[in-house]
Amino acid sequence: MKKLIQFKNIVKSFDNQIVLKGINLDIYENEFVTLLGPSGCGKTTLLRILGGFLEQTSGEIVFDGDEISKVPAYKRNLNTVFQKYALFPHLNVYDNIAFGLKIKKQSKDIIEQKVNRMLSLVGLEGYAKRNVTLLSGGQQQRVAIARALVNEPDVLLLDEPLGALDLKLRKEMQHELKKIQQEVGITFIFVTHDQEEALTMSDKIVVMKDGEIIQIGTPTEIYNEPVDEYVARFIGESNIIDGVMKEDYLVDFDDKDYKCVDHGFRENEPVDIMIRPEDIDIVARNKGVLNGEVKSTLFKGVHYEIIVETVSGTSKTVTMHVLGNKDIVNEEEKEKISASNFYMDLEDVPNLTTGDVTARANAQAWNFDNEDLSISKVTYDVKN
Ligand code: ATP
Repeated sequence: MKKLIQFKNIVKSFDNQIVLKGINLDIYENEFVTLLGPSGCGKTTLLRILGGFLEQTSGEIVFDGDEISKVPAYKRNLNTVFQKYALFPHLNVYDNIAFGLKIKKQSKDIIEQKVNRMLSLVGLEGYAKRNVTLLSGGQQQRVAIARALVNEPDVLLLDEPLGALDLKLRKEMQHELKKIQQEVGITFIFVTHDQEEALTMSDKIVVMKDGEIIQIGTPTEIYNEPVDEYVARFIGESNIIDGVMKEDYLVDFDDKDYKCVDHGFRENEPVDIMIRPEDIDIVARNKGVLNGEVKSTLFKGVHYEIIVETVSGTSKTVTMHVLGNKDIVNEEEKEKISASNFYMDLEDVPNLTTGDVTARANAQAWNFDNEDLSISKVTYDVKN
């Protein structure tokens, strides 16, 4: 894939506040890239600098081989979709989408062809003559996306475009947006603070914190191999507990055995253990690593969320998820589910409101203070 955009050491200060602290990031053609981070971490500022609405304090942006810092916004071949749709209220759907093409003085036939293609792309065939102010939020956002794409930009910038929509519509639009991006085949740079949204749509996620990039990776990399505790806690749920290394293993799923692989952890070395709630299995009493007591069980639809207070070592609360729909797990399915996922008899789940439970966890261990150590699956003892 061709490198399309390079941020080179981008620094941005407002008055005396440094908002971006030296951003280095490469973005490729046809990528769906998400800038993800909590409110105030600098996502929008970075997007606005790329869009040409703000100038960086120092650093360079290279776009398709050219340094563009001094190129005005309207000459950059990109377009932006905002959370607030900013449609022209006095124009109908067709004229909103056609606006940019009319300014470029394109012929009536070409305009009609392009606008119709956009209407079909965003699923608004038959809405051409509608007044935009009478459309739903989701429909208005579709018009805004069509208007931004009709000029055939190389890059579409999307600043929390789904933020104003209700949850159901938001989820629908996540799939729509991904589909649209694949259909038009251009780079989308999407800003959100919603980790689920980022995981659902992105080819690449850029996790930011306080004006810095903390990790860049695919959704699975970010979820399975977070570089630090901040990412582990921000993306998905995780239990992080202190441990001491006993043996260093990789799980071999084929024969459901463990193979010993040396990842460089020393015996008895203190490690941070991250366990995803869905990776904890309940097993027969005293067969697991973590012993605990169930404090509460909540039915969440897809899964039960079970809060367990561990009783081995220091008392600690651990959250675990167990599939909630009994019907989807029959004996055959159970066989297919890898050893990492599931062990328990689902009939028992709703009764797990109190009492003892023994859990066995597939944990990942890090030493967050030592960057040289790689990730591995391990067995561990909870630290006393
Ligand atoms: P959100 O998700 O809330 O939009 P964000 O990650 O996009 O957050 P930015 O909008 O980039 O964050 O803001 C980063 C920091 O820069 C914030 O502390 C904000 O107050 C500050 N900031 C942004 N624009 C300006 C401005 N024009 N003048 C002064 N400070 C600004």
